[in-house]
Amino acid sequence: MSAVAPESVGSDLQPVLDRAAAGGRISPEEALELYVRAPLHALGRAADEARRRRYAGTEHIATYIIERNINYTNVCVTACKFCAFYAPPKSDKGWSRELDEILRRCAETVELGGTQIMFQGGHHPDYGVEYYERSFAAIKAEFPQLVIHSLGASEVEHMAKVSGVSIEEAITRIKAAGLDSFAGAGAELLPARPRQVIAPLKESGERWLEIMETAHGLGLESTSTMLMGTGETNAERIEHMRMIRDVQDRTGGFRAFIPYTYQPENNHLKGRTQATLLEYLRIIAVGRLFFDNVNHLQGSWLTVGKEAGQLSLHYGADDLGSVMLEENVVSSAGAKHRSNRMELIHLIRAAGRVPAQRDTTYNHLAVHEDPAQDPVDDRVVSHLASTALEGGTAHPELTIVEAR
Ligand code: SF4
Repeated sequence: MSAVAPESVGSDLQPVLDRAAAGGRISPEEALELYVRAPLHALGRAADEARRRRYAGTEHIATYIIERNINYTNVCVTACKFCAFYAPPKSDKGWSRELDEILRRCAETVELGGTQIMFQGGHHPDYGVEYYERSFAAIKAEFPQLVIHSLGASEVEHMAKVSGVSIEEAITRIKAAGLDSFAGAGAELLPARPRQVIAPLKESGERWLEIMETAHGLGLESTSTMLMGTGETNAERIEHMRMIRDVQDRTGGFRAFIPYTYQPENNHLKGRTQATLLEYLRIIAVGRLFFDNVNHLQGSWLTVGKEAGQLSLHYGADDLGSVMLEENVVSSAGAKHRSNRMELIHLIRAAGRVPAQRDTTYNHLAVHEDPAQDPVDDRVVSHLASTALEGGTAHPELTIVEAR
């Protein structure tokens, strides 16, 4: 069956949409044409058809996960221009969390039914491989049930430099200490021109991919991300996706593609550009059609909003991400959306899907078929820089180590 009515799409684009909807491969040039010219609803219908085909049997389900971001330091030497989170070394705004504060956050995550933590922080000048080994080993010793889905190629590049070891050794050691998979942070935009503009001190896009490919080869899978809306061109957005797809053809190690939008507050770009909702939905749809080799596609309710997150489920996304028991990074740049488990379940159901809690590898832990049986724990709430349990402390009261 044709994905869209032929008369609504250019005759040159219709066969491309149909091929992609049927699971066939489209070229980067074709993806760009679809992104720029295909009617929005036609694009969405084709992407939804591709999603349904990929998940035949469970296509009625959309997933979410309960996780916590744990920000261990905001001290960073890399000074990305879109980032509102970091403080340079020696700044009086710099902080680092003590290990016992990190472990307390892990304990709360377990208490609230969270299954995953995302360890996320700046490139601290003193944090080499040993710091991550110590942290991951301590977390796994106390909470072996927590999946550590954390870091990305940029942190690996940085920690290897600090410790004077190879990328392979850094990855092997943090894996042995407890890292389960990479979150794929730091991809931002991989093509050279926009990356140089927004993150001039970060490793190149090619290097980011090389490190992720090495990680996949060493048995650590990852997700992949894309930051939209910092002034990149349409062609550069598609090129970013091409670069990831090429690596995926070799490794199969990317579990998901997660585009999200630039937040304009408190950073050097000063809100110069931002992706619109329609651009975001078009990327979600083209992402589903272009990535014939990546399973999962996540809607980012945190950056684009809850209704846009719901819409993304009709444009090819199969997952709505995390409740986020704690988030400090994109919220520092202006993302103010908050949710909770009951609301995420409601959002998914209101979008016409059956909600299911998943784990890091997308296994369904609980399928919420019957609203009468929905979980009712109202403590499972997304927080800005605060702890989730009553009696927990808020951000300013946490133990803070002075930045050097
Ligand atoms: S995005 Fe990460 S690497 Fe870049 S400045 Fe912020 S904390 Fe540092």
